[in-house]
Amino acid sequence: MKIEVIKNVLKYNKEQADKNRKLFKDNGILVLNMLSSPGAGKTSLIIETIKRLKDTIKIGVIEGDISSTYDAEKIKYFTDNVVQINTGGTCHLNAGMVAEAVKKLKIKKLDLIMIENVGNLICPVGFDLGEDYKIVISSVNEGDDKPVKYPPIFIKSDLLVLNKIDLISISDFNQDFFRGKINDLNPGLKIIKLSCKTGNNMEEWIGWLAKRRKGKSN
Ligand code: MG
Repeated sequence: MKIEVIKNVLKYNKEQADKNRKLFKDNGILVLNMLSSPGAGKTSLIIETIKRLKDTIKIGVIEGDISSTYDAEKIKYFTDNVVQINTGGTCHLNAGMVAEAVKKLKIKKLDLIMIENVGNLICPVGFDLGEDYKIVISSVNEGDDKPVKYPPIFIKSDLLVLNKIDLISISDFNQDFFRGKINDLNPGLKIIKLSCKTGNNMEEWIGWLAKRRKGKSN
């Protein structure tokens, strides 16, 4: 019985995600589902992306947190098109929450929506939101063992951003070990190493985005 309930939840989520995907496609919007543990730099990456692209494309942001409007308030300095979802304890966003949030964005005008999922490496990956790409953000200070401990998020993501690369020389993070474990789980997964704080290699991320945007614009 319990298994049946879980199946129904996931079936409902998939149907809603497909509706979201159609809405995004019809409006030519690139949508990114951004996943990481707390503190890896999802909000920082979103802010640094808006700073670099706000004059060329229109960007919306959906912020997911268990509580507070803290991140949305930070992002409000850079764009008005931001909606905060408070999940009230749920450890991930689902497609229905995103559908509600999207109603509050001016989507007809948007080119890109970045969805900041709830910070954890476990639950969010199980829920399709209708996004084009899942992006997992790791950071040097988390250590190089996260792919070993939390495989699914690394298996299902389309891109890995390794943030806080400016800390690499003072950390024990073993890049060869990390890359090797990623290759075992998701061969060929692209890793972009950057620092939101110093701006180091942000251009590779912006280039990756621009390429995906080209395929979407209508
Ligand atoms: Mg955040």
